[in-house]
Amino acid sequence: MRAGQVNAVQAALEDHTGRLDWPREQIEHYRTARLRALLSHARERSLFHARRLRELDPSTATVADLASLPMMTKQDAQDEWDSIVTTRDLDRERAERILAEQQWFSYTPSDEQVFSSGGSSGVRGVYVWDWQFYVSAACLAWRIQTREERRAPVRSPSRLAVLAAGIPPHASTPLFDVPTAPGMETVVIPAGAPFDEIVAAVAAARPTHLVGYASVIGRLARAALAGDLQVRPVRVSTNSEPLLDEDRHAIDEAWSATIHNLWGSTEIGVQAVGCGHGEGLHVCEDEVVLERVDDSGTPVAADAPAARTLATGLANRTFPFIRYDLGDQVTLLPGTCPCGSAFVRVADIGGRRDDDFRYGTKTVPASTFRYVLGADPRVSEYQVRQTVDGAEIFAVGDPDVPRLSSAVAAALRRQGLSDPQVRIEVVDHLQRHQASGKLQRFIALR
Ligand SMILES: [Zn+2]
Repeated sequence: MRAGQVNAVQAALEDHTGRLDWPREQIEHYRTARLRALLSHARERSLFHARRLRELDPSTATVADLASLPMMTKQDAQDEWDSIVTTRDLDRERAERILAEQQWFSYTPSDEQVFSSGGSSGVRGVYVWDWQFYVSAACLAWRIQTREERRAPVRSPSRLAVLAAGIPPHASTPLFDVPTAPGMETVVIPAGAPFDEIVAAVAAARPTHLVGYASVIGRLARAALAGDLQVRPVRVSTNSEPLLDEDRHAIDEAWSATIHNLWGSTEIGVQAVGCGHGEGLHVCEDEVVLERVDDSGTPVAADAPAARTLATGLANRTFPFIRYDLGDQVTLLPGTCPCGSAFVRVADIGGRRDDDFRYGTKTVPASTFRYVLGADPRVSEYQVRQTVDGAEIFAVGDPDVPRLSSAVAAALRRQGLSDPQVRIEVVDHLQRHQASGKLQRFIALR
């Protein structure tokens, strides 16, 4: 099944890479037709969406008409699971049973896969990817790289190292473990393993291509700069976490590799991907509609600040997400990209809003810690937990603890905290989320 699906992705990549050259009118024409198909299907097959789409005629609907529909939250999606799913042979109970019993990434008799993610937001999510949705998401993840490889083929044989969860139930491994050039070999390296094991596995794989969590790739780049890892990847794809400036700079300095940053979610698949030529990330407008809205869900002008981003996934027919609140804010970039694609771009997705710590009436942005901790060359990785009157920091590396503690405390005082208490503990490795392998860098007090 897996081999068949990977071949389906490789076949569909022909179409998807071609779309990158589409002019605006073609993108918009295609998107409108896909939107109408999704709305018609969701209204007919999903009780949840039928209620919400009552007032809308799917056969004439446009992207602008989405504004008349209510937003869909993560809580809605999980609470109303059985009335959202459009296939009769799957409900939440069955999906949970598949997650509990499967030994590896399994397929239902109708060719769906069940994934789970979350933890960082406090709401665990269970998701269904049907065959076509997976093919779409994998093409979105890889089509820009495929175009670049065709323009300038890399040395052969090429080898892709995939740093992802490595085990079910997280979707990252099947999504990224896809050979995209003829003869490309792939190796999956679990990102939750002890770091020295990861370094050894990457060294042994001698990858020409690297894909994985932004924080892990950043740390590998720092290991390379320190002389602990001898590999020379030409292309690097980061995902699942915000790509911090310090990680981007390390990757650039270590390998001068082209960086493709990817913004995705288990709900929507892939929202946007960087091309490595222009700034920011190209929105996958042919498969995803993004709306930048204010707090009440009303779309805002392209140059106005938005409170949240709503996504409508055009490829997910089995579990439709329509005006789904992604919880990220994006800024549109003006102008055309040097790569020639007419797909609009958003600025790099920075730290998430959840990263902010609130102390009474004072809000301390995560960047306060980042600027101090990320700039310390003796800290290779860190995690910050908010405390009532300051922060507890776990640092991997060999920092000068008293000096670093007082630097963080000084930064917090500049944010308005009168007597911040900062405790730094040097550790061997950081605790990653058990199921997903993701690192939650900033943990706010609830
Ligand atoms: Zn571009």
